[in-house]
Amino acid sequence: NLEISHLVKQYANADRPVLDDITLTVPAGKVTVVLGPSGSGKSTLLRTVAGLEPIQGGEIALDGEVIASGKSGNAKSGRQQRSSDLRTRVGMVFQSYDLFPNKTVLGNITLAPTIVQKRPKADAEREALELLGRVGLADRKDAWPHELSGGQRQRVAICRALILHPEIMLFDEVTAALDPEMVREVLDVIVELADQGLTMMIVTHEMAFARAIADRIVLLDGGHIVEQSDDAERFFTDPASERAWQFLRTFQ
Ligand code: ATP
Ligand code: MG
Repeated sequence: NLEISHLVKQYANADRPVLDDITLTVPAGKVTVVLGPSGSGKSTLLRTVAGLEPIQGGEIALDGEVIASGKSGNAKSGRQQRSSDLRTRVGMVFQSYDLFPNKTVLGNITLAPTIVQKRPKADAEREALELLGRVGLADRKDAWPHELSGGQRQRVAICRALILHPEIMLFDEVTAALDPEMVREVLDVIVELADQGLTMMIVTHEMAFARAIADRIVLLDGGHIVEQSDDAERFFTDPASERAWQFLRTFQ
């Protein structure tokens, strides 16, 4: 499980935290969907889990091991280099996850396993091809990123994260920048990963997708958790809080 307890995140120069006392569990093998209005702190939450943002209070633990702490004296502001350990344990795909433009599809996917994990190239390429086959892109292995559609690029980005065998995958609005006809092909890949029991934390504005895939729903507003539910269907049909009703109404 991923356990977030009393997490406080405040950006340098900000007068108040963007995440304030966030406590939540992301159960292993389940899909946790994080919802909330723009600016509520969803991306920041994912970035703290990925180790891309230092935190100022609380703790994040993955399978019982603390991966981020607010009292580690780690008060650097701004971007942080993710440790290579975290880079392999926590996979992420973001809205504008840019592939390396000067590497082919295969080169993009095999870069981290060969450089960071020092895996033999042939071995990494074999697995990359297998992953590309799973997302329906085996025939595009030698293509350059600029030759791909947005949906194809996101599927390559997913392969690039999966080849490191992460314990948890984070998805931040991976379809937000895509044309409608490409959204489905990316969401289908994520649904398949869910069916395989991969632990995932997903931020999305696609309510139908959220409803279909979520085991657990977390609603953020203004840096606070408004409502958490282990009964996703119930959340969408009969949420506990007035704020959740209000939020859901904006999608109708
Ligand atoms: P959206 O749905 O629009 O993507 P979000 O829920 O992902 O919104 P965040 O991007 O996490 O929201 O932003 C939460 C708050 O933190 C916002 O008020 C934003 O302006 C602020 N913020 C985000 N990134 C930074 C940063 N690097 N420096 C300072 N403030 C930031
Ligand atoms: Mg965001």
